[in-house]
Amino acid sequence: MRFESAAIMHTPALRSADRFGDVADYFRQHTDATLCAIVDAQMRPIGCVSASDFQNLLASPFGFSLHQNKTAYALMQPGFIVVNMHQEVSEALGQLSNKDTILRDGLVVVDDAGRYIGTMSGLSVFRTMNALHADMLASLTREIAERKEAESKIKRLADSDPLTDILNRRAFVREVNQHILDRGPFACAFIDLDRFKQLNDRYGHATGDEVLRIVARRLASRPDISDAARLGGDEFAFVIRKAADAAALADCIEAVHAELTDAIDTSVGRVFVGASIGYAVHLADTNESSAMLHAADKAMLRVKSQGGGVSRFDPALDAAGEDGHAVELALSAAIAMGRLQPAFQPIWDVRASGIVGYEMLARWPDSGLSSDPAPGQFIPIAERLGLIDPLFWTLADKAVSSLGDDEHFLAMNISPSQLTSEHFATRLEKLLSLHGVDPARIELEVTEHVFFGNLERSQVVLNHVRDMGVSLALDDFGTGYSSLSLIDQLPFSKIKIDQSFVRGRGQSFVRGKVLQATIALCREVGITSCTEGIETADDLALVAGLGCDQAQGYHIGRPGWLRQGGHIPYSALSA
Ligand code: C2E
Ligand code: CA
Ligand code: CA
Repeated sequence: MRFESAAIMHTPALRSADRFGDVADYFRQHTDATLCAIVDAQMRPIGCVSASDFQNLLASPFGFSLHQNKTAYALMQPGFIVVNMHQEVSEALGQLSNKDTILRDGLVVVDDAGRYIGTMSGLSVFRTMNALHADMLASLTREIAERKEAESKIKRLADSDPLTDILNRRAFVREVNQHILDRGPFACAFIDLDRFKQLNDRYGHATGDEVLRIVARRLASRPDISDAARLGGDEFAFVIRKAADAAALADCIEAVHAELTDAIDTSVGRVFVGASIGYAVHLADTNESSAMLHAADKAMLRVKSQGGGVSRFDPALDAAGEDGHAVELALSAAIAMGRLQPAFQPIWDVRASGIVGYEMLARWPDSGLSSDPAPGQFIPIAERLGLIDPLFWTLADKAVSSLGDDEHFLAMNISPSQLTSEHFATRLEKLLSLHGVDPARIELEVTEHVFFGNLERSQVVLNHVRDMGVSLALDDFGTGYSSLSLIDQLPFSKIKIDQSFVRGRGQSFVRGKVLQATIALCREVGITSCTEGIETADDLALVAGLGCDQAQGYHIGRPGWLRQGGHIPYSALSA
């Protein structure tokens, strides 16, 4: 608020030469006035006569007779308070130390040029101050309310998963801890959606997000469960407060499972997801929060590995999974610290009888676990934890930087999940140019075992990689289910026939025939064939007889380490 909007009395001012009688007339005419301003020739206030002083003077027995011949100048007080009409009232009043004076006498108001405009009576100042305080109080109350609202919003945000609006992992763990303090028998369930990744790859992230939101809504709207939470990715969790009756509990969780796996209508049409739910009961199965969450997770992982469904934690079955958990915990640290190492296995040119290249295979030496996990163990975990890409780059960096000057090629395994972004191709290009390696010496092996979720996207990335001069091999041929159509749709120049075909040929006539037919097919369509699992001289003779181009296996060489500071090929074939 400014003084111009406050109650200013626009009463005329007196000049310094005006007489005592003029001052008396002024107060007689303006009964509200508590101040009479005295101005100079330019209308600038030079002092004022306050009503209270003037009254005191009149009240004194000699006052009137002593002063009636004097000028206003003689009666005036020089120490008076002047404010500019455009000034903020709160600001001006805040600067005044002696507020008692203005509450009694009021103040003088001037314009921007310092010319007299009017006065404000003590009462007006008082009212203005009150209005200001009321204003301040109101805005303070508003501010407090807003702050409270913001605080609760922040708390809500901190507690909730931004995508689905249900609790996040942090809040869920806190709630579980609270239930433990409340001591009741309650159950904690973990959910992992099945086939969600494929759904995401096939229909895109927007649809994936839609599905996650619908799943969250289904959980949150069930009255029989509480604390529905999204733990991250496609993992959810919830609590069941009444868990004393085991059969009723199992029924309830089955019902949740049925609802989650029911058809989901999205904007691209109807989809289905599976769900694996594991649960544990506080007091019956475990008695502390971390053990509780761990137990539910273990049960969920077991049920997931069995193809989905619902299962309660079972110490006999789930304790065996202990290792997997330890591996999980250690793996991300090991990858981040560059502890994984590439091993190299030679690949043999059957016709030229010599090594033509090496396949890089991940190894995790000195893992600190009871035994060093094999790739078959840690690769799927890296895949599940989203660590396969960082794993690849640490190994690729080591392998590419140690390539020798010969012509040998380097084959590296990549996971289809790495093919969803073109970032992969540009990063590979950078790595190769950094180490001055000809892209023609690099081969990427993509396993057909894992479903090619987003074929179009993979096509774009693989074409980009191929255009760089890098070649592509379809790995583990024969173990997947989309082999032939993949060769047609993706730019593969080599097929690696899975070792089960060589090794299994004795037991199965069909396997031997498939081996023969695949090699023949490769010749026909001009794709290089490479048979894996060559363990004996007989194996090698067999595939050579079938016209296979390349061979790989223990007979030719086991995966070996690079010698300290050495180059591929290494001399010591061990490991
Ligand atoms: P793969 O790509 O088919 O690799 C060949 C596997 O067969 C290797 O197992 C190798 O040691 C083994 N092998 C080679 N010759 C013979 C033989 O004559 N007989 C037998 N019985 N086995 C033989 P490894 O190193 O345990 O790797 C297993 C799988 O793990 C690999 O299969 C590959 O799918 C995956 N893998 C390994 N390293 C990586 C990696 O860096 N990235 C990705 N994404 N996957 C990897
Ligand atoms: Ca491979
Ligand atoms: Ca293979």
